[in-house]
Amino acid sequence: MTGGNAAGAGAGTGAARRGMRFSVDGWDPSYGASLEAEGQLEESTATIEADVELPARNWRAIDPDAAGPLPRSLLFVDGVRRVEAQVWVDGDPLPAGATGSEPPAGTGAAPAAGEATAALCASYAAGVVCCCAAGAHLVVAELRRGLFSVAPHASDILTRAGGYKAHHVAIKRANTPVMRALSQSLQGRLAEVEVVAADAARGAIGSTVRSPAGHTAGGTDDLLIVDGPLRNRQHLPRALGYIKSHHATYLPPELNLLVGRLAPGQRTPVFRMGTSWDRHSWYLRLPGPAGAPWAGVVRIECAAALPVTEVIQLASLSQRVLGRFASAEYKDSRAPQNLYPIAGLERELRRRLGDPKLLYRALREAARLDTGPLQAPAPPAGATPSEGISLGVRG
Ligand SMILES: [Zn+2]
Repeated sequence: MTGGNAAGAGAGTGAARRGMRFSVDGWDPSYGASLEAEGQLEESTATIEADVELPARNWRAIDPDAAGPLPRSLLFVDGVRRVEAQVWVDGDPLPAGATGSEPPAGTGAAPAAGEATAALCASYAAGVVCCCAAGAHLVVAELRRGLFSVAPHASDILTRAGGYKAHHVAIKRANTPVMRALSQSLQGRLAEVEVVAADAARGAIGSTVRSPAGHTAGGTDDLLIVDGPLRNRQHLPRALGYIKSHHATYLPPELNLLVGRLAPGQRTPVFRMGTSWDRHSWYLRLPGPAGAPWAGVVRIECAAALPVTEVIQLASLSQRVLGRFASAEYKDSRAPQNLYPIAGLERELRRRLGDPKLLYRALREAARLDTGPLQAPAPPAGATPSEGISLGVRG
């Protein structure tokens, strides 16, 4: 997927506040596709410590244990993100030492130091669905739009369809493609908004969604289920990461065999895994029709810092509560792993992202504002808009 064929042709160009000039690439069909937060590649190398719950030589399938109370409410957390446009932020127009109070010189001014750099305008949203005595209901939905740019002078973009807050992205490792760095930054911001949404759901602070009678926020007898890895969210109390697609094999072959043999409702023993970060994890098979060996298998994560007894309690709880929400096959192509509260939440969040065509047109308009008729700039030196535009956010 390159998707950059239309780039540059007729691109709108213009200025935003504080002298930032930017242009908008041609429409890319992939912009319209909203992406789930979980769609990120996981590391294929991991250190595994299998002896957390049972010694590796004694690994066996663990049945659900009906003892103990169930959480009063389950809070499902998810996020979606969508690239609205790739834009080019022009090089800083201000010569060194300038105060910034003067507009850049008019037609014929020499290009300022620094080349135009590729940037992303993206919308992203996170929310929480609560399943409690009051039924399944939306508790929080948080929408953000951002301009992700490596240009230090990048500033907010205002459009008639919404504003894009500037996020300055530092490329920490040399040779990291700009688009990947931008995409990772977007992913990181989305994780932050998911944390904001989760905290709001628990405290009902800042919640803009009315909850039905019978729902109570607060207390410590809820359980948070984050769609996707728990990375950057390990600090949330009573939280599980829910991973429904398997990009890598983590367990050694002799232990991995057990996963394919799990009966519905059973799980593997807990293990610890370390990639670029550490956590506890286990595999669980959701109820569903018999199929391929890994059909209905999900991997659950919880924080590395938790004591083992608490981890085992969470593992046991996951067996009891998640099966109830497995989606029926006819409703969702990823069934049963796509839990239906999460599927509904994703639909609602995507709706709140807004109409991608409208947002794109508004960005083009904003790029044209304040641009003199003779201001059409030459394409940025050394940066061909049609190359390297793989958005890299599909994972
Ligand atoms: Zn509720």
